[in-house]
Amino acid sequence: MPAAVRVVVPLPVDQTYTYLVPDDLQEEARVGCRVLVPFGPRRLTGMIVGAAEPAVEGVTLRPILDVLDETPSFTGEMLRLTRWIADYYVCGWGEVIKAALPSGIEVESRWVLVRTAASCDGWTGPPAARAVLRYLEVHGGEASLDALRQAGLDARLALARRLERDGLVRVEARLARPKVRVRREKHVRFAPAFRTPAARADLGALLRGAKQVAVVEALEALVRAGKREPRRAEVLARAGASAATLNGLVKKGILEVVEREVIRSPLDAPAPEEVPPPAYTLHPSQQTALDRIHEAVAAGRFETFLLHGVTGSGKTEVYIAALKAVVARGKTGIILVPEIALTPQTVRRFRAHFGDRIAVLHSRMSPGERYDAWRHLRSGRFSIVIGPRSAVLAPVSNLGLIVVDEEHEPSYKQFDPAPRYHARDVAVMRAYMNDAVCVLGSATPAVESYMNARWGKYTLLSMPERVPVPGHAAAPLPVVHIVDLALEHKKHRLDGVLSEPLRRAIRTRLDRNEQVILLQNRRGYAPVIACRSCGWAPMCPDCSVSMTYHKDKRLLRCHYCGRTRRLPPRCPKCEAEDLARLGAGTQRVEEELAACFPEARILRMDLDTTGRKNAHHELLERFRKGKAEVLLGTQMVAKGLDFPRVTLVGVVDADVGMLLPDFRAEERTFQLLTQVAGRAGRAGLRGEVILQTRNPDRPVLRYAVAHDYEGFVAAILPERELLGYPPFGRIVGVEFRGPQEAEVRQYAGRWTAALRGQVGEALDVLGPEAAFIGRVKRQYRFHTIIKVPRGFKTETLQRVLRHTGIRAGAPPGGSRVAIDVDAVGLF
Ligand code: ADP
Ligand code: ZN
Ligand code: ZN
Repeated sequence: MPAAVRVVVPLPVDQTYTYLVPDDLQEEARVGCRVLVPFGPRRLTGMIVGAAEPAVEGVTLRPILDVLDETPSFTGEMLRLTRWIADYYVCGWGEVIKAALPSGIEVESRWVLVRTAASCDGWTGPPAARAVLRYLEVHGGEASLDALRQAGLDARLALARRLERDGLVRVEARLARPKVRVRREKHVRFAPAFRTPAARADLGALLRGAKQVAVVEALEALVRAGKREPRRAEVLARAGASAATLNGLVKKGILEVVEREVIRSPLDAPAPEEVPPPAYTLHPSQQTALDRIHEAVAAGRFETFLLHGVTGSGKTEVYIAALKAVVARGKTGIILVPEIALTPQTVRRFRAHFGDRIAVLHSRMSPGERYDAWRHLRSGRFSIVIGPRSAVLAPVSNLGLIVVDEEHEPSYKQFDPAPRYHARDVAVMRAYMNDAVCVLGSATPAVESYMNARWGKYTLLSMPERVPVPGHAAAPLPVVHIVDLALEHKKHRLDGVLSEPLRRAIRTRLDRNEQVILLQNRRGYAPVIACRSCGWAPMCPDCSVSMTYHKDKRLLRCHYCGRTRRLPPRCPKCEAEDLARLGAGTQRVEEELAACFPEARILRMDLDTTGRKNAHHELLERFRKGKAEVLLGTQMVAKGLDFPRVTLVGVVDADVGMLLPDFRAEERTFQLLTQVAGRAGRAGLRGEVILQTRNPDRPVLRYAVAHDYEGFVAAILPERELLGYPPFGRIVGVEFRGPQEAEVRQYAGRWTAALRGQVGEALDVLGPEAAFIGRVKRQYRFHTIIKVPRGFKTETLQRVLRHTGIRAGAPPGGSRVAIDVDAVGLF
């Protein structure tokens, strides 16, 4: 038994700290357990990551104060994985550990001891424990750890748990802030003597009054319906009786009330499907892909597959089949999806197959729900978890498969807070550490992933065709047309945002009773307001961006910080009453649609209409049920939806996003256009896509029209190679941010100079420069970009970055520096 341990605390430091383990906590202090430790004047919750030498010369070690976990929160595997993330993404190990634990289970929880034994005579525990029991006795049988501490008693959770094991107390967590408590519900069952129908035959004689009879009959009926222990509330409701009546029956020894833990299921997750999922015969290309995956699963070897399949090629069916093979071998699986709210159909399909063996994680869960899911994953009660990027850190053991659906999605990269990890890359690493299989799926893989497959690091599996729908030939990919807006304008055919060809196409669909999806990747009414006589434009006072006009609320809104102000009736600078509303957001498109097609029912889906819980789901359901003909929205409409009656997809402005100074702008556009186009024409109805643009000659549009992913990649690779961008090199973005412009600029300069001083010419260091959006939420932003050539040692990079931070010193007050390894979105 180690007399000292190494502890990691949740701070942005690259260090572990050594603490002594007091004799009476030796048993509890295991690796992977959370502990309470003194840290300077503070007390922090840390995690034991290993044993340490108790004697360090010249240093007096302090003891840990308490052990907070009964079973370790982390396995050795999670410790190794989080350590790797801290190294690779250059952040504190404690920060990663914190990210992998459900929030809200910190020690601020008010632990309460409740005495359960009438007396502890004859119990021979240590005097400190006896003192605690005596305290409980004279204080109504209940006391919080805080109260014990204030009374000068031993207030350690580990000690309380030991008393609990001896049957003397119950330890309850009464969380002060977030409600993270195991919820219990009362259930009712017959007492042992009355468990068989025969024994209940002459129960009648024991009952007093109609109410008691009603309760017994209600329970009887529920038992016959297969519920052996229905919820008490259900029985009472059915019997129309009160709890007092039921308690009377308990006293008589006829019924028993038992408490059961409730697994809080995410409120807005769709209920598991009642109907069994269809059993498909896999299409040959699906079968080929699956065979390759199976082979790796059967061999129990690490392998990463890139499943490149067009939308509708049946990727999800392949994931499900692969998962079944893994689960059949007693292993577990993780499914990553970009954002649960945007993929309800995918989640539902998994649930239909795996029922209650699957845990669903999503961003709108309460801390309690998250905590429950986490605990049950750790205990092995669920064998599959589906969720967004943080699900890659789920505490599953015996991992067999990780699926990353839509692996190209930027939302897999975390920015704030650290760790700034990419869930796809962590997934590959985690699979590697577990001899597991990783499947990355996409219709438009990230160029990095595609090249990793070409270079042999991943195995490429292609599914170039849509799955044939029974009774139809394979749905062909939609026909894509480009409408040149400049030309339309010249021909005087454009008096709004919808061109003549797009209007005609919509008209046809409405006449045929089919549906339309329109993408306008910008919300609000008009992105820019400008005075026609002096050029004044309202800017957000806290961010260096113009404010977007929202017509529904007649407000100007900043899309970076949310600040709003009224639209002035006249220009505040020159007093002219001539404020132009330039550009078009979803609201303006909606207005024009309504004017053109007064009979059409239009659903608008953007951040402004989906703020409410479930709003997103409800909008999609209405569209699916045919309660609207047109679904208009931002990129949300492009994701994971499968509506058989949609035969037209219109992209109102294919140029949105092209001006961002990001080397991935073209790639993103191609992905978005391909994705939204994939929504058109599925169940045997031929689809059409119309892209409106002012730059019809841009290569990205040409390749999108031809559904030519490979051609697109080939076209953009030379420039990436020339400039050393991924996949030919790695990018580290460093962001400096703070309230004082001069201070931040100066610190950014010092930091970058310290970096250059170490690396000389070995790395290409650009900057610092003011960021594209130089100010957000009153914080000035500067960027330094580091290009790391392929083959540059990762360890060297990590060492250099950590040293740079030390040499440059701490950032000035209120400022900070964020190191973003493999940055996504550089503006
Ligand atoms: P992707 O994930 O590649 O977009 P899906 O797995 O969603 O594709 O499949 C597209 C549609 O085809 C879905 O409605 C799915 O139920 C159906 N499908 C998938 N595989 C088959 C198959 N082998 N036979 C019949 N239908 C299938
Ligand atoms: Zn003006
Ligand atoms: Zn703002």
